[in-house]
Amino acid sequence: MSMQAWVIGNWKQNPATNHDVNALLDDLLTAVNTEEQVVKNSCRLMVAPSCIHLAAVSARLKDTSVLCAAQDISAHSANTGAYTGDCSAQQVADAGATWTILGHSERRQYHQETHESLLQKLTHALTQNLGVVFCIGETQAQYDDKQTLAVIDTQLSVVKDLLAQQPELAASLSERLIIAYEPVWAIGTGKVPTVAEVSAMHRHIKQTVTGFAESLEAMTVLYGGSVNADNADSFAADPMIDGALVGGASLKADSFLMIANAF
Ligand code: PGA
Repeated sequence: MSMQAWVIGNWKQNPATNHDVNALLDDLLTAVNTEEQVVKNSCRLMVAPSCIHLAAVSARLKDTSVLCAAQDISAHSANTGAYTGDCSAQQVADAGATWTILGHSERRQYHQETHESLLQKLTHALTQNLGVVFCIGETQAQYDDKQTLAVIDTQLSVVKDLLAQQPELAASLSERLIIAYEPVWAIGTGKVPTVAEVSAMHRHIKQTVTGFAESLEAMTVLYGGSVNADNADSFAADPMIDGALVGGASLKADSFLMIANAF
């Protein structure tokens, strides 16, 4: 099945200032306007600014073809509560986000995300009508130990548990959930798996997820980890790879748009 391609920029804890955010958006929107056909016809574009910049970025992206995502939401409550430092699904939706990234390996590593907290976050996001870009991927040690499949299956079991709790979600989940396969060892390192490795993993992910419920259609599965303007073409050529989640190369509008052009 041919999927709509997605190219998503994960800005992480960047840029440093409002001024720099606006400069990046100026460049991005100028480029998007000149590449309108690409963005509209072949590839959906989305950016995920830090929480502090979310409202301003989404305001500038309103009425453009570029969507805006949060990078995370609170596990504790979908709306309000005594959770210092957290931002809820309701708050990021109110700030203009229509999607959120969840389970990024940097959140798993530095914020001790667990199966339970990710299940809560997924539930809260969907309750507030946010789409979810759910990140999974193995570490270098797990890759070396040939544990990749077991790790991926464990991480995907959050989706299985979500559907066990709310089977009615299955009918529309493929429109509201994107899986991003991001080997931890490829993030920000310049090292990438072979296209054949990514393709086989994406096939496995699609097969696994469609096995969770009868009415579930194949998920959009993106590759992430050191995607750049030079290697995007090779990933885009594989029918199992539906797009890219891009970190470093999304902080320059020209490289981000070159990646979008590849898909
Ligand atoms: P990278 O990051 O493109 O800088 O490797 C990808 C990601 O962490 O989503």
